[in-house]
Amino acid sequence: MKTSLRFILSAILTFSLLTPGFSQEEYLDREFMLDDLRKLSHDAAEGRETGTRGAEAARRYIAGSFKTTGLKKLNKGYLHDFQFESGDKTITGHNIVGYIKGELGTAIVITAHYDGLGMRDSVIYNGADDNASGVAAMLSMADFFKQNKPKHTLVFAALDAEEKGLQGSKAFVEDDRIPMDAVILNINMDMISNNNKNELHIAGTSHYPNLKPFIEEIDTGVIRFKFGHDTPDLGQGDWTNSSDHAPFHAKGIPFIYFGVEDHEHYHKPTDTFENINAPFFAKVANLILEAIMRLDQGLD
Ligand SMILES: [Zn+2]
Repeated sequence: MKTSLRFILSAILTFSLLTPGFSQEEYLDREFMLDDLRKLSHDAAEGRETGTRGAEAARRYIAGSFKTTGLKKLNKGYLHDFQFESGDKTITGHNIVGYIKGELGTAIVITAHYDGLGMRDSVIYNGADDNASGVAAMLSMADFFKQNKPKHTLVFAALDAEEKGLQGSKAFVEDDRIPMDAVILNINMDMISNNNKNELHIAGTSHYPNLKPFIEEIDTGVIRFKFGHDTPDLGQGDWTNSSDHAPFHAKGIPFIYFGVEDHEHYHKPTDTFENINAPFFAKVANLILEAIMRLDQGLD
């Protein structure tokens, strides 16, 4: 069902490309992506705080999607467990990791954290933009690359405990089940669905300028790519260490981070599905996918 629908859609899109006026391609199925975003940020997931049953529900959903897509497992399953200290407690977190093998021996790791703030005084912090949006985009991208074989091996990692201090990402880069020597790039998505100015920020290219041309050449249509937030001296806030790309960068692995400017719903109970900007999200997810395709094809 999913595959045949996709085939029909791609046939329509191929035709549309020949039609004047159509510039930005929609590779990803908007309805599937929005449905994933809606489910992951539903009240039933209780804000997905690490170690809670809400996070477990989200984890089952993500691992189920990996399985349906047919992602490969590094070991017996998709779950990569890790432990960390929080106050006087030891907490177990669970990353969800799957991959698609490419022709080359090197890999690109695509990350999005699925954990959230959970509940405070029985109020749910749904975390729709932060970061059900990144995970929903990632799930659709995995499906896309399953049908459109990449050159590099693409690893899809839904990371846990970002909100507890990037714990899932720190554990990932130290996980000896993952051959980190083969990793040439991290693409991190964290908050990509809530912006009213059609602006998406891209951090990392000040550290890794050779990556910038791949992204600059994309026809972004109404969306404006804003490079920056990755040096200490521009007065706009340095995001180099503020999300899951930081542990990769600390290991010397190049990264590109995609995300929106902080907004009124950031880390508030109002970060709900109803408050995301669906057309913006769909456009941005497709543009990030295009960036990944160009990097995958262009990098050695
Ligand atoms: Zn986040």
